[in-house]
Amino acid sequence: YVAKRTRAPLVAYRESIEAAVVARLDLDQALRRALDQDEFFLVYQPICDLASGRPTGVEALVRWQRPGHGVVGPADFIGVAEDNGLILPLGAWVLRGACRQFRRWQHAGVPVRSLAVNVSPLQLADPEFPGLVQGAQQEFGLEAGALTLEVTERVAVEDLYDAGRRLSSLRALGVRVALDDFGTGQSSLSVLRRLPIDILKLDQTFVRDAPDDESARAVLGALLALSAGLGLSAVAEGVETEAHCQTLLALGSQTGQGYTFAPPLTPEELLGWWTGQGL
Ligand code: C2E
Ligand code: MG
Ligand code: MG
Ligand code: MG
Repeated sequence: YVAKRTRAPLVAYRESIEAAVVARLDLDQALRRALDQDEFFLVYQPICDLASGRPTGVEALVRWQRPGHGVVGPADFIGVAEDNGLILPLGAWVLRGACRQFRRWQHAGVPVRSLAVNVSPLQLADPEFPGLVQGAQQEFGLEAGALTLEVTERVAVEDLYDAGRRLSSLRALGVRVALDDFGTGQSSLSVLRRLPIDILKLDQTFVRDAPDDESARAVLGALLALSAGLGLSAVAEGVETEAHCQTLLALGSQTGQGYTFAPPLTPEELLGWWTGQGL
């Protein structure tokens, strides 16, 4: 009797693990097919001047139209793509696709001045990556300073990837480097001295509570002072409300992105939004 009572939860536990393993294998398989099946697409979020609301650039963000599952966000598949190696071809597809779209905007007279693309540490470690970047810049006519690559503190935490030298050689190609989600990693301050970067992207967690919470505001102000002191540009993430925007302006911040300006948009939507800005 006792054995029966204890066995049932164990069986349920084992079955739940099996289900998770099967789901993960399905995801892995589906992801491997997705690139060939053309199931990925890119959306673009404007990065704006906080005072005027005018867009200064866009960040490309990948999405997966997974059959039977709807639109899947990068948080649910980038990690798997890093584990199964797909991140390299996927990352190359993202970079080239975003640069191609950027050139279309230039030809259409849309004044998008800069394009930011997120890069995984594994891409940065790939010896072919600088050639890929340079090839895309040339093929799609991006001038020096137009392309920003966003990397996270992860690239430096273990420094498996000789990140400093690799980022320097990318900068020599006219690429700007942004440190994404700044302040959420483990070694924020030492990373700032070790890595050649141009832009700090202040994570949304610092922005969220700033209007109502004095200590959150103090941290945000210190991060802005730090970035100014180091001669870096700062971009605030997660600017969701007018209060966020006003708080950031009062702290001397100039640039941000978030839902108060625009969510990530398809190229078609972005064109409409941009036109609505009177530009
Ligand atoms: P991220 O680079 O920090 O991108 C900002 C994320 O915040 C995006 O989520 C964006 O949709 C979301 N966001 C924008 N405005 C707001 C706001 O006002 N409030 C809140 N709460 N969120 C906002 P998304 O698109 O789901 O991307 C998540 C992360 O996935 C990105 O964070 C980036 O690290 C990664 N990612 C996205 N695209 C790529 C890619 O092509 N390659 C790689 N390696 N990673 C990518
Ligand atoms: Mg980013
Ligand atoms: Mg970010
Ligand atoms: Mg973030």
